[in-house]
Amino acid sequence: MQRTFIMVKPDGVQRNLIGEIVARFEKKGFQLVGAKLMQVSRELAEQHYAEHKERPFFGELVDFITSGPVFAMVWEGENVIAAARQMMGKTNPQEAAPGTIRGDYGLTVGKNVIHGSDSPESAEREIRLFFKEEELVNYSKLMNEWVY
Ligand code: ADP
Ligand code: MG
Repeated sequence: MQRTFIMVKPDGVQRNLIGEIVARFEKKGFQLVGAKLMQVSRELAEQHYAEHKERPFFGELVDFITSGPVFAMVWEGENVIAAARQMMGKTNPQEAAPGTIRGDYGLTVGKNVIHGSDSPESAEREIRLFFKEEELVNYSKLMNEWVY
């Protein structure tokens, strides 16, 4: 079973989209194995977005992600990394298809509502950055046999 790191960004939290986003992943059949509302420190933000540190928007991105609470989650399921990226839609909400989270709720690339890991390597790295092992649970839902 694969795991991915998903985060409702500060704009999504302020716009009351946590429930809507959690509901989409639940209804799809994925299983929540960790979640917390938290304030991201500058240090954590810089580590999380390290791959973008030379980009012109890096400072803005760190300012934004630390500007208010985020809702950090770990979701589990078959092929969840790629599936979550599809459910999120393209990075720029103006290019994201209707029906995707960014396509339905976002207008600008700077405030695009949600983050999701883009590969198994980044999923592992991001989960480790945001969660301690004891904050993640191992359990199996009865529902699983009706999904797989
Ligand atoms: P994704 O979040 O889809 O994986 P990236 O990893 O390329 O996208 O970028 C990380 C985040 O940086 C994006 O979600 C977006 O909020 C922000 N970002 C990306 N490109 C730009 C840009 N050209 N201007 C401002 N912010 C950007
Ligand atoms: Mg990315």
